Formats: sequence, C-alpha cells, structure tokens
Amino acid sequence: MGEQTASVKRRLGVMGGTFDPIHHGHLVAASEVAAQFHLDEVVFVPTGQPWQKSHKTVSPAEDRYLMTVIATASNPQFSVSRIDIDRGGKTYTADTLRDLRAENADADLFFITGADALSQILTWHDAAELFSLAHFIGVTRPGHILTDAGLPEGGVSLIEVPALAISSTDCRARVAQGDPVWYLVPDGVVRYIDKRELYRDDG
Ligand code: ATP
Ligand code: MG
Repeated sequence: MGEQTASVKRRLGVMGGTFDPIHHGHLVAASEVAAQFHLDEVVFVPTGQPWQKSHKTVSPAEDRYLMTVIATASNPQFSVSRIDIDRGGKTYTADTLRDLRAENADADLFFITGADALSQILTWHDAAELFSLAHFIGVTRPGHILTDAGLPEGGVSLIEVPALAISSTDCRARVAQGDPVWYLVPDGVVRYIDKRELYRDDG
C-alpha cells in the first residue's frame, strides 16, 4: 500500500461522460473495473460544454461537475477532473487522454467505457491515436451488445459488470415527469437536482 517504487506505474482509470446526471450505472462500472484491473484510482472527467446548442441541451458544466463530485466524494479511490470542462468546447477523448497523461506521467491510463460508447469508438476523432494513449475497457450495459468486432487486438478488454438498466436520459425524463430518481442516482444527487431545479423542462 503506502510503499511505491519509481519503476511501478500507477494504474489510473479514466471514466469520461456527460454525467447529466451521474448515476449508479457509472459508479458500479467504475468500481467494478477498479477491482478487476487493480486500479489505484479512477478519475471521472465530465465533458466540456458544447459551444453550439446541439439538438439535445446539456446542463451547465458546473452542475454536472458538482453532481459528479457529490457522487464520488465518499470513495477514496474516486476523484474528479475539470480538464475537459476547463478546456471548453466539445470534448474529444484523445484530448482528455493526452492532457491526463501530461498531468500523470507516472501512470498507465485505463479508459472505461460502456458498450454503447465502445461501439462508436472507431468513428471517434483521432481514433487511431486513442489506443496508444490508454488501454480501453468496455463494460456491459443493458440494451447494448458488447463486441470486439473491428477493434484492434490487445488494445481493448471487455468485461461484465453487474447490470444496471439506468441511463441519464431516463433519469432526466423521470424528473421532468415528476417520477422519483431515488436509488437510481446517489442521494446527494437527488437533492442537488431538486435544489437546482434541473431537468424540469425536459420532455
Ligand atoms: P445519456 O443517456 O445522457 O447518454 P448515459 O447514461 O449514457 O447518459 P453518459 O454520461 O453518456 O451516461 O455515459 C458515460 C459513460 O458511462 C459511457 O461510456 C457510457 O457507456 C457509460 N455508462 C452509462 N450508463 C451505464 C450503465 N448503466 N452501465 C454501464 N456503463 C454505463
Ligand atoms: Mg450516453
């Protein structure tokens, strides 16, 4: 535990997401990958705010950042990074990983992603570079098939995590309809959504 030698690299998980809001699916995925891959830490990285209004409205970055802090605060292995928010604009995973590597020269990076996001990986900006920046870990997600079709061999691990059929989209819709999100998101996040009156105009 406390002892470290310079030759042993820290194992840093990276969980990128919009986190609008963060929910227990994100937290279980990060926790499970941390255990299976013996990660020292998982850093949650909320995406930057898109410059232009896209077809779907994203909550303010500070609200998404604070909900992520609230949700992860109790776990000593979890932290939150502002790099994508402070860079601004649309987030490209290659930028996230490059900046995190610069900040954590002593670490190997493990990028954690759900089956839905993994299937889009080859269409991502700078996709070719991604696999040189981090090891990718694809996790199961209800409603999406986890497949390594088309992914470069050795660059990606696929693992099963306890299935939680929770999405941020569904959480937003529930709040907009007046349905509860208790136990889908951490208690502090339920309170924060209420306090800031988030998602009430959706749907
Ligand atoms: P939205 O519905 O707004 O797209 P989301 O629930 O997909 O939100 P994101 O912030 O888009 O959440 O996801 C961040 C990362 O977490 C992605 O890699 C996504 O695949 C993964 N993820 C989200 N929900 C789950 C879940 N229930 N189980 C496993 N992985 C998940
Ligand atoms: Mg999503």
